[in-house]
Amino acid sequence: MQVADNMAVSIHYTLTNDEGEVLDSSIGEEVLVYLQGSGNIVPGLENALVGKVIGDKFTVRIAPEEAYGELMDDMIQVLSRDMFEGIDNVEVGMQFHADVSEGPGVVTVVNIEGDEITIDGNHPLAGVALNFDVEVIDVRPATEEEATHGHIHGEGCHH
Ligand code: ZN
Repeated sequence: MQVADNMAVSIHYTLTNDEGEVLDSSIGEEVLVYLQGSGNIVPGLENALVGKVIGDKFTVRIAPEEAYGELMDDMIQVLSRDMFEGIDNVEVGMQFHADVSEGPGVVTVVNIEGDEITIDGNHPLAGVALNFDVEVIDVRPATEEEATHGHIHGEGCHH
């Protein structure tokens, strides 16, 4: 059975950046189960999995535009300290929920100079090429309900 749209796919993966640093891994944890063709995982990885079968192992390097996007300068803003009313000690590295154009997102304080506070709303992996080391563990057709919901119903599913 091959990976195609509306298949439930189980994979083990290790994600590294170009420096070889491990950013995430399912090894020693539960397999990742996702619905192919529904954008559950980054587009580049979904594309790389098309046609794969159980037992396949491969590595793929995914450019930022096929992963979490390029770093966008307009996601970085300088705000005045007045905007942080009610927060006593704004520090570099603090994260806040903010309403950004694509819906609620997380912004991180990246610089403070006097009353000017710079925040960055980019995804932490924006601008980063992702190197995935993947093993296909299982491939099965999704149920009609899963296909309709756009995600997989496994153990620990809420409904
Ligand atoms: Zn559901």
